[in-house]
Amino acid sequence: MTSVLQCLVNLIPVQNYFLRDVRHNTDSCIFLRRANEQSNRSNSTEEMPCNLSCLACEFDKLMLSYYGRCVGIDISKSINSRKSDDLLSREFSCQEPSSVECGLPLTASDFIVSTWRMGEMRHLAGHDQHDAHEFLQALLDKLNEDCKKMEQTIISVKRRSNTSKFLSQNKENNESIRVKTVISSFQGFLKSVLVCQQCGEKRSQNEPFVNISLPINRKATHHQNNYHDAMYRQRLSKLIDIRNCLDHFTEEESLSDLLHCEWCKEPTSMLKQHTFSKLPTILCLHLKRFDAATNKKIDDPVSFPAVLDMGSYLPHWREVEQTSVLKTPDTDACDNTQPLILYDLCGTINHSGGMNQGHYVANVKIEDAWYNCNDAHVRALSSVDEVLKNNEVYMIFYTRRNLTLY
Ligand SMILES: [Zn+2]
Ligand SMILES: [Zn+2]
Repeated sequence: MTSVLQCLVNLIPVQNYFLRDVRHNTDSCIFLRRANEQSNRSNSTEEMPCNLSCLACEFDKLMLSYYGRCVGIDISKSINSRKSDDLLSREFSCQEPSSVECGLPLTASDFIVSTWRMGEMRHLAGHDQHDAHEFLQALLDKLNEDCKKMEQTIISVKRRSNTSKFLSQNKENNESIRVKTVISSFQGFLKSVLVCQQCGEKRSQNEPFVNISLPINRKATHHQNNYHDAMYRQRLSKLIDIRNCLDHFTEEESLSDLLHCEWCKEPTSMLKQHTFSKLPTILCLHLKRFDAATNKKIDDPVSFPAVLDMGSYLPHWREVEQTSVLKTPDTDACDNTQPLILYDLCGTINHSGGMNQGHYVANVKIEDAWYNCNDAHVRALSSVDEVLKNNEVYMIFYTRRNLTLY
């Protein structure tokens, strides 16, 4: 599970959330939770969150500890040494952090034990092998929930302390004030489209996602927009590439069951397709290597690029109507006008071993250098090529590049 944390703590949007913007600060969260709890005791009519354990605080401490160590100070030790009761009675002040040796690797055992204590993540406790993807999902859900609680507590406190001013400031969206949590950077939307094959009627809806699980597709698909891409031709003949998996994921498929068409007023055969209607800041791709049906791991090597263009997976370029028009192979189809939405590789989690036993290792990018993080050992890699040539990739993290032509 350390490999998941290695990737998370090195993602720039996650660092910004906890370190630069200080959106979830442990001192403030403890203060608010305790103040809220006291207030609830004296005024039990209003229900507010007062859970005294908070995984976002534990993650904040992990971040402080990790980055404190990078510059030689142990911040989390000074946080833990303070009694939380003090927080109500004194001004916030910064104690002098104690020194530690520089450059130690991320030691996340305290954090991992904290996750085991959380009811929602208890099933991931113990030393058995757990799935890194499942751990990431559960972790993001819990962090999201705890970050939201703090934001909502702030809103409740503001509401109580100065109701009229608060209401006038938040007139328009007072009922559902949008809170930004750490999960916001991972969130995108898939457009799911159903097309009636009898009348052509289209129904669509947007579904949020925080990561994409891709089946490993051995068959190369005909994604027309890539016909002139030399790299694409190359990968047709060689390895499975992550772009083959994305092509396959966004390809239309006939549903085996008939569905009711509102226009035809009867059950008809339908095409279904997913495209990316909103791309996230952090794109997390997960390869479905563990096949529960056969109880086997799919070992096929999957290649992936250092820079991934997601422009061709937007509805406008990929949706069923457009692709059918473009189905004239080897023409000078409109490659020039397709938007470039570039993502830079920033982390991978590799899995070696089989279905029930194995080992996770993370590769992370820190500034422009790559590091291989294997539990307690961190090794500098000579270049990104060492990351790309690994045949055991299981999860891939990309961050969206700001400069886009879209
Ligand atoms: Zn907290
Ligand atoms: Zn129809």
